[in-house]
Amino acid sequence: MFNFIDTHCHLDGEEFAQDRDVVIQRAQEAGCRQIFLPAIDVASCQTVLDVCRQYPDYCRPMLGLHPEEVRADWRDQLATIKSILNHQPSSIAIGEVGLDYYWSREFEHEQLEAFEEQVRWAVELQLPLMIHCRKAQNEMVAIIKKYAHELPGGVFHCFTGNQQEALQLLEFPQFVLGIGGVLTFKKSHLPDTLAAVVPLDRIVLETDAPYMAPVPMRGQRNESAFIRHVITRLAETYGVSEKEICRQTNENVQKVFGIQI
Ligand SMILES: [Zn+2]
Repeated sequence: MFNFIDTHCHLDGEEFAQDRDVVIQRAQEAGCRQIFLPAIDVASCQTVLDVCRQYPDYCRPMLGLHPEEVRADWRDQLATIKSILNHQPSSIAIGEVGLDYYWSREFEHEQLEAFEEQVRWAVELQLPLMIHCRKAQNEMVAIIKKYAHELPGGVFHCFTGNQQEALQLLEFPQFVLGIGGVLTFKKSHLPDTLAAVVPLDRIVLETDAPYMAPVPMRGQRNESAFIRHVITRLAETYGVSEKEICRQTNENVQKVFGIQI
């Protein structure tokens, strides 16, 4: 029997509007103990909180402004999200936040400012960060470095980088890498990277659902129950049992998020 936590799942999305109950039931049957939901903007802070209120003690909210949602109005968005956060003690992390230069650099400078502001929230509220980063690792690391000693920790979500990139992130001892469906993709070099340089006590599990479904579900809508395929691949990668993958990743979640499971 598996026993795990999905640390990053967009369960509030409209992809789950029709059958969210069934998806959660399947997650529970598959051994998923809790699901953490990241917001991406002001509107999704509300939908994330709504879902978490419907499934208390199972779904947990993380609030923040996603880098791809940073536009000219970012200051207004941040002001609203901060006031929600101040009145919402249930939020377990700031997220998802970060930098994304993959599709566009149009709001590059705004992204940097918005990210740094939210990193300061993490320090102020002593909440971990759920970090999204694409094509901007050096810039992201430079900001984290400024606050490293005051930050309680966090997750570098959807890690898919090489050994050098992994080592750069692991230099922050209170942070872990979020590992999901990409690990199971045929051409992925991620298993080799993890085995070579990433200790098992530095990773947590995630779906990033509805995206990134693992093999053999690749291309379908992802959901928390599918994490068992990632666990199986991780057990092969590290040469340990699936039970040990669950035990250690749960311990890592408790450490980073400071919550009991
Ligand atoms: Zn996400």
